[in-house]
Amino acid sequence: MSKHSFDVAVVGGGPAGCRTAELIARSGHSVGIIEEHANIGEPMQCAGLITPRCFDILGYGRETILNEIRGADIVSPSGQFMGIGNENVRVLSIDRAAFDRKIRDKALDAGAVLASGSRVKDFQRRDGTVSLNNEEYRAKLVIGADGARSATRKWLGLEEPTFQLNGLGADISGLDMEEDRVKIFFGRDIAPNFFAWLIPAGDVTRLGLCVRGADGTANDYFKRLFKNGESSKLLAKAKVIRTHSGIIPLGMLPRTHADNGMVVGDAACQVKATSGGGIYPGLVCARHCAETAVAALEADDYSAKKLGKYHESWTTDIGDELEKALMMHRIYSDLDDAQLEDIFGMMLNPEIQEIINRVGDIDYPSRLGWTLLRKEPGLLKYTGKFLKHGILGR
Ligand SMILES: Cc1cc2nc3c(=O)[nH]c(=O)nc-3n(C[C@H](O)[C@H](O)[C@H](O)COP(=O)(O)OP(=O)(O)OC[C@H]3O[C@@H](n4cnc5c(N)ncnc54)[C@H](O)[C@@H]3O)c2cc1C
Repeated sequence: MSKHSFDVAVVGGGPAGCRTAELIARSGHSVGIIEEHANIGEPMQCAGLITPRCFDILGYGRETILNEIRGADIVSPSGQFMGIGNENVRVLSIDRAAFDRKIRDKALDAGAVLASGSRVKDFQRRDGTVSLNNEEYRAKLVIGADGARSATRKWLGLEEPTFQLNGLGADISGLDMEEDRVKIFFGRDIAPNFFAWLIPAGDVTRLGLCVRGADGTANDYFKRLFKNGESSKLLAKAKVIRTHSGIIPLGMLPRTHADNGMVVGDAACQVKATSGGGIYPGLVCARHCAETAVAALEADDYSAKKLGKYHESWTTDIGDELEKALMMHRIYSDLDDAQLEDIFGMMLNPEIQEIINRVGDIDYPSRLGWTLLRKEPGLLKYTGKFLKHGILGR
């Protein structure tokens, strides 16, 4: 006999898992959230930047907002600055731990049960249901919301991410930042194949970067931010309060379901490759996942065929955008600093800046990509890269 039996076991209590659990529990089914850490939201491994859309989806949680961000100062590899933004709030800096706890509370209010401090290590299909950790838990359906290194994904036999970004972030003090602007630093010596950031977050500033295919570790590049270039001038009086690290999985999984299971959030690589943001896509896909789970429970059918509706519905919704963001990331990764500087120069044109301010949207980056490609003939010399990575070929 299992110690705990549920209709659905959600492995992982991050935003994607707790939101999926909340939506399933709301429809009256029993849901257990199994989380390896003692406290939801800890350790925090995030820059905490999301769009207001996330709160539109949730319908709650705005008290976790720390700063409303209206613009960005972008720094090129050679140290040129470009300011973008206007009076509109583009993104929000949030207290990520409080945000995760808020979604957990809503899941518990809806009737979900939380088993914290419990790591799922073992999955066995038995009599059409699934035993977890040798009968510690039993469920008809398992939802893997267990992040980038998902054990559920492996058990279900799904593909692994194509590649990953290695991230390192810190809360720092002693920096005089405008409270409604972020700073972004580009360059192969700064953050190979990605970028570094400074984000105002209430009483502290968040400094961080991600790297991929780099000569050193994320930590090596993090230290260099204090020593070299424009960042070092800004960080001259900065004190690091705490650091965190994490990985961001990238790729498009051909399947996010199998018999008795689905994966959601980072476990399903539902991440925007241009910004590394996974909270918005995770929340979008949580709804698709919950809807398919409820339909499966009502039909008492947990076959891969039945659960395939989930893969179909989330890819129809945002799969195309995530795929385009992945291509944009690949194109960006092909550029050297001289090419980045060239593109940066084109972006300084006031007409282009007006487009960036009007069309730019970190949740849907391809809209800006397309518009710029049509507007700025100078970008056409990079057409080969666009073709190579499929944007124009689609
Ligand atoms: C440096 C960095 C900065 C980032 N900045 C941003 C940002 O500004 N905006 C944004 O949108 N995204 C950002 N992200 C990405 C974002 O953090 C993730 O996309 C998001 O947390 C994914 O949510 P999730 O619920 O899918 O997974 P997670 O939040 O990773 O939650 C997974 C949970 O599963 C638990 N777990 C794992 N394995 C097991 C197991 N076997 N048994 C039980 N529990 C398990 C983990 O403890 C964890 O609590 C950043 C990531 C990094 C690394």
